[in-house]
Amino acid sequence: MSSYKSKRLPRSARRSRKPLQENWIRGPGRGTTLKCTYVKCSYEWEYFGRRKWAQCPACHSVLKVALAKKNLIYHQQALNSNEFKNE
Ligand SMILES: [Zn+2]
Repeated sequence: MSSYKSKRLPRSARRSRKPLQENWIRGPGRGTTLKCTYVKCSYEWEYFGRRKWAQCPACHSVLKVALAKKNLIYHQQALNSNEFKNE
């Protein structure tokens, strides 16, 4: 059975087989705060999905995550500037 033994994988090939890494499975816990881009709604909620699109739980309109994120930041900045103007 020497021919069978010679077919064994070299040590380097066996070493390169890493155990399954779980860092690509992002568990729940990290969410992004989104603000609905629909002006009449403008609902804020925590989004835990990792897709590009999210559905607003209030008005059920589908919106782009990146836009909703920007929307939130924009509104926060607007609020800050308004407070500044009032004083
Ligand atoms: Zn909404």
